[in-house]
Amino acid sequence: MTPTNRTILVTGGAGYIGSHTVRLLASAGNTIVVLDNMVYGHEEAIVDSSVTLVPGDIGDHSLLRDLFREHSFSAVVHFAAFAYVGESVTNPLKYYRNNTAAPLALLEVMQEFGCKEFVFSSTCATYGVPTHIPITEETPQQPINPYGRSKLMLEWILADCETAWGLRSTCLRYFNASGCSQDGLIGEDHNPETHLIPRMLMALTGEAGPLEVFGTDYPTPDGTCIRDYIHVEDLAAAHARALDHLATGGRSLKVNLGTGVGVSVKEMIAAVEKVTEKQVPVVLGPRRAGDPAQLVADPSLALSELGWKAARTDIEETVRSAWNWMTGPRAGRYRR
Ligand code: UDP
Repeated sequence: MTPTNRTILVTGGAGYIGSHTVRLLASAGNTIVVLDNMVYGHEEAIVDSSVTLVPGDIGDHSLLRDLFREHSFSAVVHFAAFAYVGESVTNPLKYYRNNTAAPLALLEVMQEFGCKEFVFSSTCATYGVPTHIPITEETPQQPINPYGRSKLMLEWILADCETAWGLRSTCLRYFNASGCSQDGLIGEDHNPETHLIPRMLMALTGEAGPLEVFGTDYPTPDGTCIRDYIHVEDLAAAHARALDHLATGGRSLKVNLGTGVGVSVKEMIAAVEKVTEKQVPVVLGPRRAGDPAQLVADPSLALSELGWKAARTDIEETVRSAWNWMTGPRAGRYRR
């Protein structure tokens, strides 16, 4: 169920996954306030006129207090974070400051105002190189980069807040978010863009050079990495379920959000070529540092606990939605 008639603070709601979730929650009749520092967010990604966009930082106590005083939020959905794994290795403090330290202010103000429901964007990067596939929530969390560690630490902090003052949270561990809204109105616009599907589509439109395949000697059937690509609108629906779960008194959860289906880089190239009827220009390159061979979710806990499962398990459908966005009125960019 998607909750209705609730007042919810969404941090990072002008970003990729955040904006799709905001759209779903707003269209269900909730009052949504988005707090976004607009470093990577886009004003145009907020399409519902009922949504209030507040430019600002999640670490700003006084701004947060003003917002909580004005709106009496019943829950917070926390997306705001940096998510470039490579950058987190070269600039770890940026990630620990933004992803781990800044949310402390948000949690402090939630405690002050007695707001005790928190939906958190966690990540499969908290598992590091998994010991087995598919990955369950019991798979040991041994992140191999500062990005994954910055997110895992917030998972721990949330558990401590529950013990101390009764915060209930859902940590949603995303696998590979992909695709765009079905109507092509909002989508994925990262700068720089590093993700596989948009990189491929940019190679086709000429916005970027050929796709470099990062490694062809992995211990997988075709030698390329396998990932679990989960459609962004399915992720949005999971946030709605998570909010509903907490609103109805559900216990804190940590759940994987994936399709349960692994797709290799070569299989993704074939899917893109089928959907677009174009040949992707490709160069075969070396492995990218820090890429595990396979990351595939066991999403069964999300089904049993939240009643959620991915509606789009056909990768071509996901690719088609991304291609609609890339070739639609915005040509894959909010602003050029
Ligand atoms: N990948 C690739 N070329 C690219 C971008 C990604 O071969 O230009 C591969 C990458 O090595 C990984 C998969 O595609 O195996 C998905 O990468 P992405 O960066 O989209 O997401 P990640 O799994 O790193 O979160």
